[in-house]
Amino acid sequence: MPVTPASPAAPTATADLRLDAALLLLEQSGHALPAGEPGSARWLQGLVDALCDLSSRDALTGLVNRRSFLVALNRELDRVARAGEPALLLTVDVDHFKAVNDTHGHAAGDEVLRAVARALQDSVRPMDTVARIGGEEFAIILPNCPPAFGETVAERIRRRIARQAVPQPNKAPLAVTASLGGAYAPPWVRSTASLWTERADLQLYRAKAQGRNRVCIEPTAVSQVSAEEKGLLFGTSQFQDLEP
Ligand code: GH3
Ligand code: MG
Ligand code: MG
Repeated sequence: MPVTPASPAAPTATADLRLDAALLLLEQSGHALPAGEPGSARWLQGLVDALCDLSSRDALTGLVNRRSFLVALNRELDRVARAGEPALLLTVDVDHFKAVNDTHGHAAGDEVLRAVARALQDSVRPMDTVARIGGEEFAIILPNCPPAFGETVAERIRRRIARQAVPQPNKAPLAVTASLGGAYAPPWVRSTASLWTERADLQLYRAKAQGRNRVCIEPTAVSQVSAEEKGLLFGTSQFQDLEP
């Protein structure tokens, strides 16, 4: 369906745009359709924004997808190189996930992935990027996260996942755990996305090898951080850890 310009004054070029596929994609994915008069500049901008949003998200969990994660990771590396602020990368892998699929079915596995995604998103600050980067693998970029807090944040996430019981129709809820690896971007130097990810993954493998459902973070020099600073970063009620 070619788009009809909003008014005779609207640019005639929009009449020739073939936007059916884009609109169908938005509709089928449950994404809101752009607001405004079809063919108007506002409507077209809304369409572009919606497509950008759709292409940056993982369809199952709604988290940032691998492509968008890599963009965010490179942006963060630039910032660390420029400003020297400590940034932590966590990689998260669900434990024994294959057994969940094999025992309870793929649909139950998908539900576990959605639950883990929610747990991750609910455990971090709005400025942190939570991504699904593979099947049952997730990653979180935490800008401006002092080394003294890395372990605390990662432990909070691990406990939040382990606390979740994922409901299943007509069956007992599923328990799920995950292992986490973490590494800081080296400040004042320009590292690469793959080097940073490799270092976090190395710690993730250590966590798996040590028995799973645990956190391993690459050791760094721990800076002195006052309780006040800690409160400023993680002081909201959202981050008050409950007992496991
Ligand atoms: P480990 O504790 O060592 O991480 O073991 P694991 O079983 O979690 O790891 P493994 O890599 O053996 O299994 C990952 C499984 O994830 C295998 C694959 O079928 C499943 N998987 C990948 N993507 C999806 C998905 O989108 N949905 C579901 N339900 N399963 C998926
Ligand atoms: Mg895996
Ligand atoms: Mg796994």
